[in-house]
Amino acid sequence: MIDLVIFGATGDLTRRKLLPALYQLEAAQKLPEGLRIIGVGRKLVEPGLFREQARESLEKFEGKIDPGVWDRLSGRIGYEASDYSVESLRAMSHRLAPSVLFYLALPPDVFPTVAANLGQAGLSKENGGFRRLVIEKPFGHDLASALELQNQLLQHWSESQILRIDHYLGKETVQNVLVFRFANAWLEPLWNNLHIAQVQITVAEEIGVEGRGEFYDKVGAVRDIVQNHMMQLLTLSALEPPPKIEADLLHNEKVKVLRSIRPLSRENLVQGQYVGYLEEAGLEFSSTETFAALKLYLDNWRWKGVPFYLRTGKKLARKHTEVALQFKGPPQRLFEDTDCNPEPGWLVLEVQPQEGMHIDVEVKTPGLQLSSRRTSLRASYRSKGLGELSAYATLILDALNGDRSLFLRFDEVEWAWRVLEPVLRPVDPPELYAPGSIGPNNQFSLLEDGHRWRKLG
Ligand code: NAP
Repeated sequence: MIDLVIFGATGDLTRRKLLPALYQLEAAQKLPEGLRIIGVGRKLVEPGLFREQARESLEKFEGKIDPGVWDRLSGRIGYEASDYSVESLRAMSHRLAPSVLFYLALPPDVFPTVAANLGQAGLSKENGGFRRLVIEKPFGHDLASALELQNQLLQHWSESQILRIDHYLGKETVQNVLVFRFANAWLEPLWNNLHIAQVQITVAEEIGVEGRGEFYDKVGAVRDIVQNHMMQLLTLSALEPPPKIEADLLHNEKVKVLRSIRPLSRENLVQGQYVGYLEEAGLEFSSTETFAALKLYLDNWRWKGVPFYLRTGKKLARKHTEVALQFKGPPQRLFEDTDCNPEPGWLVLEVQPQEGMHIDVEVKTPGLQLSSRRTSLRASYRSKGLGELSAYATLILDALNGDRSLFLRFDEVEWAWRVLEPVLRPVDPPELYAPGSIGPNNQFSLLEDGHRWRKLG
């Protein structure tokens, strides 16, 4: 028997992501037999009412609900009120199964207390089953706070019990970066500084802060997106093949990438804020960045000298996430260039909204002249069957099964903070940019000669 205990079960994450993920897993018959889902919150809520609210959330965020699936799922769901004190958690402990996955869907400032109280209530001790703790992002807001949180957790939990979530790692196309790289032997010899001129990683959003202004203003784009999601896209794109796809071996390679990043200085980062942010966030003044672009170098054998450009922002022209690698051009251009586009081709892994990949190739222009033009080899990546599971569904299933590959080991989080630490406290106010644009003009100052930012989407 396994229990999934969700702390903060009345919150936004549970309604928007966790319940839909559990519904998908129920529909796919992937939930372990006998699994109970116990929602916990501070308010007294009748379990029946909690289930009713859960169903309403599913209708809102998952769409049409299959009554049979809902019956099975609702049969698992319970609710308990707790103030997260040691006494209250101890009282709960007698009702729990030997194996429990505790999910902290709580505001980050209460992670340490709840994790410690669970420990003091004896709930972190494994005795004939497992005890695991899922921690949501953010893991700290800088290096010092991340180290402090880790120390607090380690008072009662071991590293092997802690599962740090970055939901990007649950996305099919993000995992596909590894498969694409290492299951296609023709590609690997090209994936290095001999053949690649630059790498661009983009996470562009169309939306603004949308009612989350108070939260967002304390965070900004570097902490919200670069430190976690973009660093994960970077490490997966740049890492060496691990001997096996096993959690620790994979984490070792990711950490090696992070440790090879040349120390950053202020010149490596530009920041922007969209016009209208202050009104939307209800603020009079703020220097929080809603756009960030960075140039990084990896001082290692494979990537020496190749710039990695990262950019992310809100209220940009398009929602678009991709990892794009530009090949070096041929040593000599033998064919007449009729489309006036001498830029060497790109290999692009698209994460969202389209999921797929394309590679630019030059082909002969039809006709009598011997000239070339650009075309693209495209493959769309469409999920079928199990592939339709959301990122959260994949991660919850892995957490229940104890597979840690898609969770962050602490040294990954630590090194991502170490890399960004020198640029976390900006000295200049962010440059303003128009909503719906490609972001502030200062981003162009990062580019090396001959490099251009790719179009958004
Ligand atoms: P939330 O709605 O603000 O809070 C979740 C629940 O926590 C609340 O419903 C509340 O439940 C409880 N809570 C609030 N303050 C508390 C306190 N001081 N002590 C104990 N319980 C408290 O947060 P959320 O948006 O669900 O996010 C939860 C976690 O997931 C956060 O760490 C967030 O950073 C992370 N996250 C969220 C999203 C998302 O889409 N929302 C995405 C990625 C990561 P009761 O009042 O009923 O106890």
